[in-house]
Amino acid sequence: MSTPRIEVDLKKIAHNVSRLIEIYGAKDIRISAVTKVVCGNPDIVEVLLQAGIGVLADSRIANIRRMRDAGIEARFLLLRTPFFSQAEAVVKYADMSLNTDLSVIQELSRFALLQGIQHGIFLMVELGDLREGLMPAVVHDVVEHVLELDGVVLEGIGTNLACFGGIKPDAEKMGQLSLLANEIEVEFGLILPCVSGGNSANYDWFNATPDVGRINNLRLGESIYLGCETLHRKPIPGLFTDAFTLVAEVIESAIKPSFPYGEVCQDVSGQVPQFPDLGPMRRAILGIGRQDVLVSGLTPRAEIDILGASSDHIIMNTKNTTYVAGDEVAFDLNYGALLSAMTSPYVEKLVL
Ligand SMILES: *Cc1c(COP(=O)(O)O)cnc(C)c1O
Repeated sequence: MSTPRIEVDLKKIAHNVSRLIEIYGAKDIRISAVTKVVCGNPDIVEVLLQAGIGVLADSRIANIRRMRDAGIEARFLLLRTPFFSQAEAVVKYADMSLNTDLSVIQELSRFALLQGIQHGIFLMVELGDLREGLMPAVVHDVVEHVLELDGVVLEGIGTNLACFGGIKPDAEKMGQLSLLANEIEVEFGLILPCVSGGNSANYDWFNATPDVGRINNLRLGESIYLGCETLHRKPIPGLFTDAFTLVAEVIESAIKPSFPYGEVCQDVSGQVPQFPDLGPMRRAILGIGRQDVLVSGLTPRAEIDILGASSDHIIMNTKNTTYVAGDEVAFDLNYGALLSAMTSPYVEKLVL
């Protein structure tokens, strides 16, 4: 088997997504599965659909195209606010999108009419995290305009927290979204089919709240793949946190000094490095580096330490273990590392 590679345990992902559907379903919240971190990998996505997922959500049209081209049948939701310049492709490939800009929605409407289709619109509401979202005070106005447009249907409203500002989705924020949904329905005499309360960071709120209000949807990525919530990165009981394994190969192993010798200047990243002198140390070099993966997001499964990395190498302190060239070393990945490894063309994807 070639290295570096990322091994994907489909059974564990299937288990996680089924459990999450059950957990959130207990309070009538449906899950849209977010596929961006796996770049819409069709083998992985197939497992989500088999578990009962109906909506696949991705931030990129390229990933949605990839899934469609692979024959995946689902409703596709574009997560990232559509680019004005991509409106034609957005309505062609995505069934729905999360929106915050009226001029973009008008452009979506124009192309939907040209293509003879209806495109679903979610209006995203800013609740304090300060990434995407309409300020609550202007939402009513935008709803009014959207309702006047042909080719687009208002699917609902949503919010996204704990991404840019690290703001917690709590009872107050979810209450605001529910209230806004009720107000819109009364003002315009309509029903909003979907109120999408957030992402994997909503787990604590969900567990604590006796009443989810109007929230009937969450868009989950990290919980499905890494089995955790994302406010404190605590594992969700009963879920697998090790569905993905990164495997790299030892290309040099030797006892060497721990303290670089000679005159110290900048290293590869432009820093002047400092190392403690721990005497001679068992060191191994792995044939994987920053061009393959976000090294800071890796945790070795064995009792060994990462000392540092350059573009193509990771340098390890292997402590009491003696490796030889050709040995394989396994790592857990955090979300950033998973995203980079799944995206890197240099890392083989091995679906088990
Ligand atoms: C990525 C993303 C999600 C999923 O977030 P997770 O933390 O992986 O659950 C949900 N909503 C939006 C808008 C996103 O961009």
